[in-house]
Amino acid sequence: MDNIELGDIITVKKKHPCGSAEWEVLRVGADIRLKCLGCGHMLLLPRSKVSTMIRKVRRP
Ligand SMILES: [Zn+2]
Repeated sequence: MDNIELGDIITVKKKHPCGSAEWEVLRVGADIRLKCLGCGHMLLLPRSKVSTMIRKVRRP
């Protein structure tokens, strides 16, 4: 979890309503900003929350 970096693509356990389970990491700090690769929806979530959601991290 602590190795999340800018530009990583994370796969989450629960799909977004749009059908995609992949999010791009747009900002890393105390909070992490994510963009849904399916619909472009953006989220700002605390690290602790993101770490519970992740199934896989891909580094393009
Ligand atoms: Zn979406």
